[in-house]
Amino acid sequence: MPVLAVIEPGGDLAVVLYIVAFSLFIFGVRRGTHPTTAKQGNLIAAVGMAIAVATTLLLDGIGNWGLIIVGLAIGAAVGVVASIRVQMTQMPQMVALYNGVGGGAVALIAWSEIRHGIALGEEIPLDQLVPILFSAVIGSVSFWGSNIAFAKLQDLIPTKPLAIPGQQVINALLLAGILAACVALGINNDDPSQGLFVGVLIAAAVLGNLVVLPIGGADMPVVIALLNAFTGLAAAAAGFALDNVALIVAGTLVGSSGTILTLEMATAMNRSVANILFAGFGGAPAGGGAGDGEERPHISIGAQDAAIKLAYADSVVIVPGYGLAVAQAQHAVKEMADELEKRGVTVNYAIHPVAGRMPGHMNVLLAEADVPYEKLREMDEINPELPRTDVAVVIGANDVTNPAAKNDPDSPIAGMPIIEVHEAQQVIVIKRSLSPGFAGIDNDLFYEPNTSMLFADAKRAAAEIAGEITEL
Ligand code: NDP
Repeated sequence: MPVLAVIEPGGDLAVVLYIVAFSLFIFGVRRGTHPTTAKQGNLIAAVGMAIAVATTLLLDGIGNWGLIIVGLAIGAAVGVVASIRVQMTQMPQMVALYNGVGGGAVALIAWSEIRHGIALGEEIPLDQLVPILFSAVIGSVSFWGSNIAFAKLQDLIPTKPLAIPGQQVINALLLAGILAACVALGINNDDPSQGLFVGVLIAAAVLGNLVVLPIGGADMPVVIALLNAFTGLAAAAAGFALDNVALIVAGTLVGSSGTILTLEMATAMNRSVANILFAGFGGAPAGGGAGDGEERPHISIGAQDAAIKLAYADSVVIVPGYGLAVAQAQHAVKEMADELEKRGVTVNYAIHPVAGRMPGHMNVLLAEADVPYEKLREMDEINPELPRTDVAVVIGANDVTNPAAKNDPDSPIAGMPIIEVHEAQQVIVIKRSLSPGFAGIDNDLFYEPNTSMLFADAKRAAAEIAGEITEL
């Protein structure tokens, strides 16, 4: 029974409030495109979401407040605790979970709409049924696919690509079955079978699992961005079915931004989305062994030697990577850079678009340590300067500096644009061992004559180097 209902569905007030809400979404996304304004953008979009949720809950016809309050309380508690506890390096898993929940919610809304239509005993018009079926299929694929992505990134299941014999044929048959069932439901829209609809949900669930299981852990962030785009489209379709304009706009925003992100990540790796989905590449966990057990000759140095090389340089370029995030070394690295600048050394940071485990990962970390934005130089901008750079310091980065991407056409990362540190006069690589990065391949940079390896945790090494510089 309605308790608080004050807003007429589809009335002027509801429309105005929804327009305010999605204008805030769009403004928030726009502010999110630069590190200086991203935090504010997030808050603005959150206010928009609060307005949209409050408006929907106050619509005439909304009841069952006990259940709604319990749901809001559980959701808010889980969301707050998870957001506080999650580490920056675990953010892709968190996004996968949230995205999956969104897809699952959309699939459940679709199911409830079908049940509602059946209970009324009236024909469900096709302009309502088609978006419902679209939401159900895509929402279910997204929920299950995102859960597999989460489990892979959290190491709950093996990150290696799982080869399933005849997988493409099975997927094609499943898809054909789902489409056939949807057509049957559409033809019988005066009395659609709930059993057949549940069968569609289950088949889509199996498809979601089968599509993501064969993809390697290294490609999961791209898969998550793609599934995110799917969830957005499913939500937009649900918005059409429910005649809810805020859901249509929010879903379309998520769908389009997720698609752009997917394409940008694929471009930064010089791979097609199809290659990412079907090539079974990149199964090695971060920091795993090279595999052949052989150790190639390399130069190893300590913090004091590194400090001397850096302190007597004119220009230094710092190349951060995933290991810097794991070590939480951003503050120590900033202190090291400060010490160098005090001595008149020019220090810049080279940011690769897929360094770390999510787009913008390095920008966020370095911003946290108050590194000025103008010192964060994008790959295309810094590469031409590297031959004139005295020392490039690679801190916890690996794949994004691997010259094999440029020089070896047979390398799995051939063609991926890299930060060309091997062109610098001298290179110092700070990491704990010679282990490969996320792509699971050896890095020729470590064995170049102008490269010195400093084997240590990134945070400890940066702090030690900063200390040594002050002693010089
Ligand atoms: P990599 O994963 O290639 O390498 C990270 C390195 O960090 C490891 O080799 C590891 O070596 C080192 N490391 C780990 N912990 C520490 C520590 N505590 N101190 C010092 N070093 C440490 O990272 P990159 O950033 O170079 O490359 C990112 C990879 O992720 C690319 O392959 C990219 O394609 C992929 N990727 C990125 C996405 C993104 O959006 N950013 C999305 C999808 C994929 P050791 O164990 O020896 O210390």
